[in-house]
Amino acid sequence: MQKLLVITVMMAFATPGCLDGFKESFVSCDNITGECKYEILRGNEYSRLHIEVNYVTGNAPDSDALNLLKQRIKEVTDKSTVTVSQSSFGSTDNSYTLEEIVDLEASERTEFKGGNTFVVHILYLNGEFSDNSQALGIAYSGTSFVMFKEKIEDASFLLISSKDIEKAVIVHEFGHLLGLVNKGYQSPHDHEDPDHPHHSNNEESVMYWAIESQDIGNQLDGQPPNNFDEYDLDDLSLLKQGKL
Ligand SMILES: [Zn+2]
Repeated sequence: MQKLLVITVMMAFATPGCLDGFKESFVSCDNITGECKYEILRGNEYSRLHIEVNYVTGNAPDSDALNLLKQRIKEVTDKSTVTVSQSSFGSTDNSYTLEEIVDLEASERTEFKGGNTFVVHILYLNGEFSDNSQALGIAYSGTSFVMFKEKIEDASFLLISSKDIEKAVIVHEFGHLLGLVNKGYQSPHDHEDPDHPHHSNNEESVMYWAIESQDIGNQLDGQPPNNFDEYDLDDLSLLKQGKL
């Protein structure tokens, strides 16, 4: 009787829908940067995208930067709707290790993919990344990245505002979640910078390495690009179509 019950329960779970659920939890894209590119780019599995932002008090995202990110997402993905929510939290730290960043996401993040909605998480921190004080942003998982708001403000100079830098960094980090450049795929175009893996060799692409570095002002002439170049866009289009 006991055995029969177990078998019945297992049979009940072994419907195709539940198997998909098991598969999702075992083979998750969430742990590796760029691995969720298909889920983010395509609209068949998740037709909507939600962006959850948690920021350290006083380090809120710039609304124009968030709006630009939403616009870029609409341009390059098949998502029908892109929404944003944000909330603040306190922090007494001002230098963060990757482990601390991951822990902060775990304690602050409340939204995860489910139903027809994929969720991307953005942490906005004060202070700096302990392993690289030049970092303006880091994409560290399949669905999440961090922005260092005070470093972005420090990187501004005479002709380039922190707002313009923030717009470029937020699109750049999102580009890494999409797999740019050559993260888990091989582009037909020769546009990866050999000296800076997974970055574009074109300084007019938002995926140029210096976009996420405090040295941005010395590395670029004029405004930082906040859009993908034609090779980036072609990669994204081919990935979306399943040709890469
Ligand atoms: Zn980068």
